[in-house]
Amino acid sequence: MGMMPALFLSAVLRQLGPCPQPSRCPYCPADTPPHWIGWGYYERYAGDPEHPSKKVVVRRFRCKIVARTFSLLPHALLPYCSIRTGLVLAWLHTLHVEGTPLSRLARQMRVSRSTLRRLSVGFRRARQALRLPSRPAALTAAAFLEALVPMALTVVPLFQAWKEREPKHSIVGLHPR
Ligand SMILES: [Zn+2]
Repeated sequence: MGMMPALFLSAVLRQLGPCPQPSRCPYCPADTPPHWIGWGYYERYAGDPEHPSKKVVVRRFRCKIVARTFSLLPHALLPYCSIRTGLVLAWLHTLHVEGTPLSRLARQMRVSRSTLRRLSVGFRRARQALRLPSRPAALTAAAFLEALVPMALTVVPLFQAWKEREPKHSIVGLHPR
């Protein structure tokens, strides 16, 4: 695999689009028909390296059955992560597939080593709970990332499905709501 597909995917997952519509409620079985209503908005940081103070408005929904709220972030953002999805993916690929030393990547990207270490540890931990379509459960960190790249745009709905779960899953962590 050359650099192009990885770069393409990274670029797509860096563009801040609108919040997607939820396809399910995280608290109820996945096939329960839509039963949620709009429940206001909140602001969060947009993970924008050029404008670190930039924020996005995220729609909140409320499940009418369990009376709890949830939301769904744009594709470029991961739950509890201040860095855009595409950048996280590119950095993990550089570290785990290309084997670039963490300290060198930190220098090149002007990001702290502790940030990279946190993402890398989070990824290696989360990976064990994440399943890629038609792949065996246990993949090494490098094999997991290499399998993502040729999936191209199907990564977008896959990552969304992970975020819509309870707990929320992402490539760098699993989070209860
Ligand atoms: Zn529900």
